[in-house]
Amino acid sequence: MDRIRNLGGLVFLNLRDRSGILQLVIDPNKIPVAKELSLQDCIMAEGEVRERPEKQKNPHLKTGDVELTVKRLEILGKSKVPPFVVEDDVKANEELRLHYRYLDLRRKVMQDHIIFRHKIVTAIREYLNSYNFIEIETPILTRSMPEGARDYLVPSRLYPGKFYALAQSPQMYKQLLMVAGFERYYQIARCLRDEDPRHDRQPEHTQLDIEMSFVDEEDIFKLIEGMFLHIFKKVLNRDLSIPFPRITFNQSIERFGTDKPDLRFGMEIMDMKPFFSEKDFPPFQGKPEIRGLVVKDGKQISRKTLDQLNQEAKKKGLEGIFWAKKDGPVSGSIARIIDENIIHGLNLEDGDLLVVMAGKRDILYFLGRLRNEFAQKLNLISEGFKFLWVYDFPLFEKEPKTGRIIASHHIFTQPKKEDIPYLDKDPLQVKGRLYDLVCNGNELASGSIRNHKRELQEKLFSIAGIDADKYTMLLQALDFGAPPHGGIAPGIDRIVMLLAGLNSIREVIAFPKTTQAQGLLEGIPDFVEPEQLKELHIKLEPT
Ligand code: ASP
Repeated sequence: MDRIRNLGGLVFLNLRDRSGILQLVIDPNKIPVAKELSLQDCIMAEGEVRERPEKQKNPHLKTGDVELTVKRLEILGKSKVPPFVVEDDVKANEELRLHYRYLDLRRKVMQDHIIFRHKIVTAIREYLNSYNFIEIETPILTRSMPEGARDYLVPSRLYPGKFYALAQSPQMYKQLLMVAGFERYYQIARCLRDEDPRHDRQPEHTQLDIEMSFVDEEDIFKLIEGMFLHIFKKVLNRDLSIPFPRITFNQSIERFGTDKPDLRFGMEIMDMKPFFSEKDFPPFQGKPEIRGLVVKDGKQISRKTLDQLNQEAKKKGLEGIFWAKKDGPVSGSIARIIDENIIHGLNLEDGDLLVVMAGKRDILYFLGRLRNEFAQKLNLISEGFKFLWVYDFPLFEKEPKTGRIIASHHIFTQPKKEDIPYLDKDPLQVKGRLYDLVCNGNELASGSIRNHKRELQEKLFSIAGIDADKYTMLLQALDFGAPPHGGIAPGIDRIVMLLAGLNSIREVIAFPKTTQAQGLLEGIPDFVEPEQLKELHIKLEPT
């Protein structure tokens, strides 16, 4: 029961089910139980469907031309007064909604999100099945593996002191399925990672996990582009232009200051060295890089905002941001070095803002952030979906805290052939056969061509200081005629969120955890009985 109104001796109710709303009309004198009705009750009504009087028709409702005159009514399930009003424009805070998620999910908008998700997943299955892919489930209980995120561990009752780990992804198994000869595999797979809380991270998220044998990057790109074409047509009834543009990781950083650029607006980062390196301005002198942004109509960005950004840049150990506004005369922190040559060269027009940074390459990342912030502030972000592929990522990176060399995606990625000779000398220079699918500034998928030769895989383990013994199952399999293979794993939660035009993945997950990794509905994590711990041979230390 969605709404109840008493009008002129008659009771009008909105009865809601998954398909929508129907108005019921009840004469409480004939049906006394109507007096006991309250919102959110589950009821059964029988009667006659009739056309509403012309003036009472509701064009906003699918069933707005008719109503049901109730002859028989039964309350199947009585509802207490709900803790918040169940309505699309919900007023309750997210904690309360998550606590009573089953009530929250009664709201039409939430049902629409979940059904939308179902449609996307259905379209994915249709598409992949039509290309002869086989859906195969892989274990959730697996071995703890050192590479990647932190594992969720599961103590073994039968083997005291030993542990399983919850699968962070089916990576290992999907590669083994290729060795086993399945050639084309997919799975809508749950991935469990004990990562530090972060906005839009979930301890468990869902990936469309894909792996194929005898493929190269081109095959994967084509497959995924075709899949999005199909999803867009099927679910949104929209066309999508393919192939998606492709840029290398380096180009992406240079032009957009990020490896997941938002192409819905321009404002690319520009090389400003030719204009500024000779200037008598100490912060720019002798700097390896001078780069900046020309922000069209950027004069609306206030001096206060620019000062704040300058402080933030300094906190990050950068030289700060320097800026000039042209509004007739030029003002700002570098006004005095802006000459006609710069104004013409950068095509600075009245109303424009120029932002310049100097230093090492890390200024690019800060400029990338400014590019996004300015676009948001100035409303430059157009409607629609801008996909692109980013490829040629470095195979390894330095872990900032420890200085350790780690795989930038994962350790199963094949180095680019021409870079293999540099693995020993300078692993950080080696590029991997890695690719990301990006849309509107979000990373939607990552994947790679894998190592199907044991020696190469062992070498990568040793460069990253990984104990190869933990991966015996993979290494052994590579000894038995493994086919070349590669794959990708688009993130389902994020795809659904983006296509639904939402900005939190929790809106498209039926029972999500909070950003602090808690299940408010279940009250988890929680303590367990001493008996249970004993069975698992676990003794807790007082904390
Ligand atoms: N398993 C990888 C991940 O979860 C995806 C892949 O390389 O296919 O990121």
